[in-house]
Amino acid sequence: MERQPTKRNTSQKKKLRSGFGSRTDIGCVRQVNEDNLIVSAPLFAVADGMGGHAAGEVASEIAINTLVEKAPDVADGDRLGDAVAHANLAVMAAAEKGRGRKGMGTTMTATMIDGDRIVIAHVGDSRAYLLYQGKIQQLTRDHSLMSDMIEAGQLTPEEARFHPNRSVITRALGSDPHMLPDIYEIYANPGDRLLLCTDGLSGMVRDEVIEEHLQTITDPQLCADRLVDDALAAGGHDNVTVIIVDITSESEKQRKKTTFKGRIFAVSIILALILVFATAIAAFNFWAKNSYYLAESDGRVAIYQGIPGSLFGFQASELIFVSDVELSDLKGVDVKRIQENIRFDTLHDAEESVAQYRKDAARGEVPGQSTRSEPA
Ligand code: MG
Repeated sequence: MERQPTKRNTSQKKKLRSGFGSRTDIGCVRQVNEDNLIVSAPLFAVADGMGGHAAGEVASEIAINTLVEKAPDVADGDRLGDAVAHANLAVMAAAEKGRGRKGMGTTMTATMIDGDRIVIAHVGDSRAYLLYQGKIQQLTRDHSLMSDMIEAGQLTPEEARFHPNRSVITRALGSDPHMLPDIYEIYANPGDRLLLCTDGLSGMVRDEVIEEHLQTITDPQLCADRLVDDALAAGGHDNVTVIIVDITSESEKQRKKTTFKGRIFAVSIILALILVFATAIAAFNFWAKNSYYLAESDGRVAIYQGIPGSLFGFQASELIFVSDVELSDLKGVDVKRIQENIRFDTLHDAEESVAQYRKDAARGEVPGQSTRSEPA
């Protein structure tokens, strides 16, 4: 039989490209891939179905779908355990209704990740490992006959790898309505890696090799591919499913959020300053365009529009009219007032004042304050 193509959850990979990698493969011997997985951050899970054709794959699919439906939004171990318990009941109910077969079941190793915190709900012999500070640690305890015998001192782990009953599991979804998953909650370090896998990996590839790949293959998808390839190269006796998640720290996430907020705050301040500056410029322009003053230009009385002097190095006024009134024809007090730039609110008032100076110059008289439209 031609092997079915491997699945890699490419749609999920786009969301967290550098955060995780995954792959499931039918293996080299089995005719059906009874494994299933979900990769949807913060939820990650593998399930290894059992019960034969048209049963194992149905059980693992129902379990994963129910987990996705019932899983909490946040990493909460008890609520994740409740979701796995729901999945157990869903598998049993499906068998009762004739979907799949009676007696079908599945393992389930489900995790939720919140920064550096990992919660796990676990049933069966699929596994969660953590590459912790460069060393691999098995986080979950197998619910299997081999695990019980190893703990009882009746077998070594190496003997268990080849034992004829190595596939016998002691707890699974699909048989006991009161089944409860084991719940784990651990804290990892930035740079650690979480590995979820079915026994198609852990039964075919030694922990030392898994550890080396997790240490050395930086890209999680390439690492998942390499682990599955190794399982296939070792014989691929079982379906094999792998999920790798890189752990990032909450502090790092928080730092990124803080930096982002800081940038938004800085941009807001700059925009506010620009707005204030633009408003001030507009107000100044309005004021300048409605201001006039008298000053000397080539020895004559002239009218300027704007404000005497300059602002930020720019001239804030322009010459609009030079009269025929010579300053030398005016009294000293008037010359002084003109040189001090007498200000008017309208051009008409400025022109009236120039006209008065013209009359005074013609008469050779000192102009009276009462006859001029200067502001007080
Ligand atoms: Mg398996």
